[in-house]
Amino acid sequence: MARILLNNVSKRYGKFKEFAVKDFNLDIEDQEFLVFLGPSGCGKSTTLRMVAGLEDISGGEIFIGDTLVNDIPPKDRDISMVFQNYALYPNLSVYENIAFGLRIRKVPKFEIEDAVKRAARVLEIGSFLDRKPRELSGGQRQRVALGRAIVRQPQAFLMDEPLSNLDAKLRVQMRAEIIRLHKAIGVTTIYVTHDQIEAMTMGDRIVVMNRGIIQQVDTPEVIYNRPQNMFVAKFIGNQPMNFFHGTIREIDGHIRFFTSAFNLRLTDEQAAMMRNKRMQEYEVVMGIRPEHIGVERELIESYPHATIRGFLQFNEFIGSDHYYHVDSYGKESFTVRAHPRYRYDEGDEITVAVDMGKALFFDKNSQELMT
Ligand code: ATP
Repeated sequence: MARILLNNVSKRYGKFKEFAVKDFNLDIEDQEFLVFLGPSGCGKSTTLRMVAGLEDISGGEIFIGDTLVNDIPPKDRDISMVFQNYALYPNLSVYENIAFGLRIRKVPKFEIEDAVKRAARVLEIGSFLDRKPRELSGGQRQRVALGRAIVRQPQAFLMDEPLSNLDAKLRVQMRAEIIRLHKAIGVTTIYVTHDQIEAMTMGDRIVVMNRGIIQQVDTPEVIYNRPQNMFVAKFIGNQPMNFFHGTIREIDGHIRFFTSAFNLRLTDEQAAMMRNKRMQEYEVVMGIRPEHIGVERELIESYPHATIRGFLQFNEFIGSDHYYHVDSYGKESFTVRAHPRYRYDEGDEITVAVDMGKALFFDKNSQELMT
């Protein structure tokens, strides 16, 4: 079983006061594909390198399988790494690059040949095994780097932004390839990226990090629909989530969310939560994604107590949808996703409805999701 366990792992570089990684607790299941996601400098690579043994840890424990690896050198941890810059040997052929790790482990020649051919078949690089890395495209080189990792069956794959040097189309292809490989081989994988689409499409679970601290560990669906705090809510989503600052008030027996431009009636469930917390006249931040606000007549009829009026400031057309940027009388602005059959022009006055069941409320001070 190649479960990977991190107990209170911390890292401080040299004399720096600030922690690069702080109190990191994580239990990665055998065969799981786990993604570390976060902005530049949040500690993703540092954590991965500590698991690999390429970086000392300042505190805590790391287990790979049942073994405490804190003091075990990288070569004895039985892991394979794939880096952003491929790190291929330029003077060796593709075949030799893939075979290298097996050769230094003194694997018999016929077994090496078998393993390289199998990896080459999976990655469809069999026709250029004799070439040198410089004679390959970026995508092909990346596949060789993957081949070098999968030629063995290690306890875990550790991948550090392996696709970031590829163009957009190749990234999408390689993304699918890595997932296919993972399904076929089933080796526990930690994958580092700052690209939320990559994380959402590839991860069984995502660890969202910020400033060395875990913000949330969950499946892509939960991360998207129930972000634990405003950082996660802002970081995830192709178009940013809309945030409104306002106050919770009870009027005529209904709990409503008031901004200076509009007010929206909470669902019964949200109202009960606010009542339980005795949060009348409480300042909160409401988050709602552009796809949960609509211009459709049916939606406006379904949510008559949750409409906002405003003017269309500008329209972003992305082919499948429009993103309308709406200004509510100079007091609030927000984005709405609309199907192309609903056509408004810049300057038009429009009414939109908020699917309040999808609205999230965050504590204004702690920025944590209210539940
Ligand atoms: P990126 O996506 O840019 O690679 P990251 O999330 O992988 O970022 P890390 O490279 O793990 O972040 O860095 C975490 C923090 O540790 C950063 O503040 C960084 O400046 C610091 N750091 C990283 N390596 C060193 C080092 N060798 N010496 C001192 N500080 C370092």
